[in-house]
Amino acid sequence: LQPATADGANKLHNLDRLHHLHPFTDLQQYANKGGRVVSRAEHIYIFDATDKKIMDGMSGLWCCNLGYSQPTIVAAITEQLQTLPYYNSFFNCSNEAAITLAAELADVMPSGFNRFFFTNSGSEANDTNIRLVHRYFDILEKPQKRIFISRKNAYHGSTIAASSLGGMSAMHKQITGLTYVEHIEQPYWFENGGSNTPEEYGLIAARALEAKIDELGEENVAAFIAEPIQGAGGVIVPPTSYWPEIQRICDERDILLISDEVICGFGRTGNWFGCETYGMKPDLITFAKGVSNGFQPLGGVAVSDKVANVITTSDGEFAHGFTYSGHPAACAAGIATIALLRDSGILEHTRQHLGPYFRQRCQELSEHAIVGEVRTQGMLAAFELVKNKDSKERLGPDGSGAQFARDCAIESGLMVRAVGDSIISAPPFVCSNDEINILIDRLVAALDAAS
Ligand code: PLP
Repeated sequence: LQPATADGANKLHNLDRLHHLHPFTDLQQYANKGGRVVSRAEHIYIFDATDKKIMDGMSGLWCCNLGYSQPTIVAAITEQLQTLPYYNSFFNCSNEAAITLAAELADVMPSGFNRFFFTNSGSEANDTNIRLVHRYFDILEKPQKRIFISRKNAYHGSTIAASSLGGMSAMHKQITGLTYVEHIEQPYWFENGGSNTPEEYGLIAARALEAKIDELGEENVAAFIAEPIQGAGGVIVPPTSYWPEIQRICDERDILLISDEVICGFGRTGNWFGCETYGMKPDLITFAKGVSNGFQPLGGVAVSDKVANVITTSDGEFAHGFTYSGHPAACAAGIATIALLRDSGILEHTRQHLGPYFRQRCQELSEHAIVGEVRTQGMLAAFELVKNKDSKERLGPDGSGAQFARDCAIESGLMVRAVGDSIISAPPFVCSNDEINILIDRLVAALDAAS
């Protein structure tokens, strides 16, 4: 098809519109207008079918944390495919790549996490959490503890169960989903904080969990699931008072804490895991995306010793699993990704130098006329767009201001996303400071255009 020619690009666009149903897309609009076809990628840049070069300020979908040019990950996958392309890890079976990845994960996870259940995605990992939590309380003879509490606007995946955990209203409108999931407010100070300081509001938002547990009855509540920083929900960086209060409540009420680290894990918040950034002590950790640098579909659940000691010492099968759980090629990608993050110093550099520089440059944008708030942590950032900084009046109805700014940024060669009234960015950790400067320049130009 020779995509880099105008003719080749057009042919691809037409085939795409005719045959491909896109996730999270207005399909009627897409059928009429089409979208961008991405043909290749290098370092932190993607190239579309017309060969337009775009700096990827989103690391793909928050997953290519080490950018697109990582030959050791590609070599590991290739070698694995040549040695053992597939065998299932069911029925008392295992494979070397899955075993090695599990041992490597135990090395980099917070202490007390030594068991891993592999899936292909974050959604499946959160489904796995639901089954693990039920199994845990069933074994402990507390089968009535079944309710999950989550947060409004949370994204925990697209399977029926994971989307029930999520708090996105559009997804709930389609189906009923699990009927035993409750949602509390997200710790979104800019939107809901009123006259409270962020720290005061952090406590208020956390205590909504306590109130919900009281309402439902502690004996009926199994777990609270949340991302350390809500990502797809708008990069909601919580006030520092939030997580210690949530931890206190979960500890006092015998509620399992699930840290969904699909975005926050593997360095995104500056540490290996977001729970470490906030001093949380979860019982279960969901991971995906960054674990394989997005080069292979891979996810899973890290199970704390507390939970593992119960479920591995009880009779009966854990009746759950996927054909590709522990897929050797995906696990090989995971092993190579961890080696890069840990052994080549990328994570340390991100924590000590790149993250603080990114934060400093992002914070400068709080002076911009249409930026009401800048939220950053590690290599995550959100820019809340307003018409009026004092009244916090939004830039455009239904997020249209942020969508316009996003389109301007992409046009100028920077991939960012619009979530509600925010522009969000999560660049790869392999950016140079100069590339961060270019990212900021393009963002400022987009904000100027949207002003
Ligand atoms: N959990 C979080 C926090 C996510 O951001 C996502 C995806 O964006 C998921 C779960 C679902 O992961 P996947 O798309 O791999 O199923």
